[in-house]
Amino acid sequence: MENTGDEIKRLQSCINDLISVLALPAIWSGSEPSQIVGTLLDALLAMLRLDFAYARLTDSSDGPPIEVVRLGHRQHPSVQPQQVGQALGRWLTGDQAASHFVVPDPAGEGEVSIASFSLGLQDEVGVLVAGSRRADFPTDIERLLLRVAANQAGIGLQEARRSGEQKRIGEALEQRVAERTTELTRANENLRLEIAERKRAEAQLRESEERWRDVFENNPTMYFVVDAAGKVMAVNPFGAEQLGYNVDELVGQPVLGVLYESDREAIQRNVAQCLKQIGQSMSWELRKVRKGGSVIWVRETAKAVLRVNGPIVLIACEDITEQKRAEEALRQAQADLAHVTRVTTMGELTGSLAHEVNQPIAAAVTNANTCLRWLAGDAPNIEEARAAAMRIVKDGTRAAEIISRIRLLFKKGTPERELVDVNEVIREMIVLLRNEATRGSISVRTELAADLPQVMGDRVQLQQGMMNLFMNSIDAMKDVDGTRELAIKSQRAENEQLMVSVSDTGVGLPAQQTDQIFNAFFTTKLHGTGMGLSISRSIVESHGGRLWAANNSPRGASFYLTLPTKVEAHE
Ligand code: ADP
Repeated sequence: MENTGDEIKRLQSCINDLISVLALPAIWSGSEPSQIVGTLLDALLAMLRLDFAYARLTDSSDGPPIEVVRLGHRQHPSVQPQQVGQALGRWLTGDQAASHFVVPDPAGEGEVSIASFSLGLQDEVGVLVAGSRRADFPTDIERLLLRVAANQAGIGLQEARRSGEQKRIGEALEQRVAERTTELTRANENLRLEIAERKRAEAQLRESEERWRDVFENNPTMYFVVDAAGKVMAVNPFGAEQLGYNVDELVGQPVLGVLYESDREAIQRNVAQCLKQIGQSMSWELRKVRKGGSVIWVRETAKAVLRVNGPIVLIACEDITEQKRAEEALRQAQADLAHVTRVTTMGELTGSLAHEVNQPIAAAVTNANTCLRWLAGDAPNIEEARAAAMRIVKDGTRAAEIISRIRLLFKKGTPERELVDVNEVIREMIVLLRNEATRGSISVRTELAADLPQVMGDRVQLQQGMMNLFMNSIDAMKDVDGTRELAIKSQRAENEQLMVSVSDTGVGLPAQQTDQIFNAFFTTKLHGTGMGLSISRSIVESHGGRLWAANNSPRGASFYLTLPTKVEAHE
């Protein structure tokens, strides 16, 4: 009876323990594996009065195993789970699991009975070891409880692993989502910035287009865009208006149509040149004909640029009609002034010129008397009379030549361009001034290069320029003692130029005022006009040359002028 009673009690206690073990999952539900194992070992230690309980969990991610140990009160308190695991090492693998052995106590002194169980079906979750010093350990009931507990824990641990895994996957997923979201946000932001940037660029382009359209359409400069064949592709309203047309009347028409006829060939050449030198600006002046036939002067700046369909020429032109008119008026005024100066000079020279003319006339009279003498009498000497008559012709011709040169200098006319022999101009002026030189006891020495090229210019202007220089030298030597020599030299110079120097042994250039002598109205003479050098310089410069002066050593001054020998007509 007693045995049965004990048995019933034992069974009741066993059932209680089983209920406690079965309740464990409710406690550890949702916990981490190490917490589940901790709870399991605590419960077993208390329930079975064990000396130690140990569990080792394999790590699903190949990391080191998790080891947990719980010790009964007699056990060594400082024992670490790893020490226990190491001591139990050879009973923790393979078939030995789920058996029972007596082994040296891994956490204390003496020996201990151990029982080990797989966590999970085949140790895949881990191993549970319970140890007790009791010799009967483990009893069947204890083995049953331990197995059930190990199974419960195995399920719980697998569950925890799964949910851990799920959690990890969930977190990884969340992380990926977060990363993708960040990426997308960033990409979105970049796109937004790009769109904003593009909008800004478009706005800038629009603005710049408007600005250029403004320049093209509203600027008071004439703009033409011409294709390589010379057809007007575009013209701005101002450009068309200046020519008396509207834009549509000009677009598509040959640009030559509005050019002054005699300018067309030169402009065609210029445009062809421009098309050869893409990107380089060229300028020229030309006349254009307005719709009604009136002519305007313009200065064009053209530049060829390459476009998809080939080169085009961009032309900007400015109306310079007024400027041209003013230049023409200035040129006329200068010509008038030069004429007045010439007449004045000739007036001063009247005595000398009269002498120059008188001399051959007097000679002719003498020769005529001689001729008459040879013809008189009974036996006229025809030969001698002819010789005298020939001399009369020569004298007359010379007088006529001098008069025609004087007439030429008195002539008032617009400048003309022709090929001029500068040596001849020098010689002619010397002839006219010879008497003036003789009167001033001045010797004239010339050194004229035989191979001097001709220059393109206005003969009368060049004569006047030369005469001004000679007269100034003669003036400068009037009051000096010692040698009085006027030396005139012509020669070829560098860069296809020729140079003439006029040197004297006169008073020299006025001290401290050398740089003023070419200014109009500057004179150091009592009756001077101060116009001679200013006119001479403008004549030389209008021929593309230069005129300058320097003092001689020991005495006198020299004037040098250069003229280009190979220029085409120069304005
Ligand atoms: P003008 O002869 O009426 O004075 P120019 O313009 O010809 O006017 O000359 C200006 C000044 O330059 C002269 O007054 C003189 O002072 C100076 N000058 C010109 N030629 C010579 C020269 N050969 N020697 C010294 N001085 C000169």
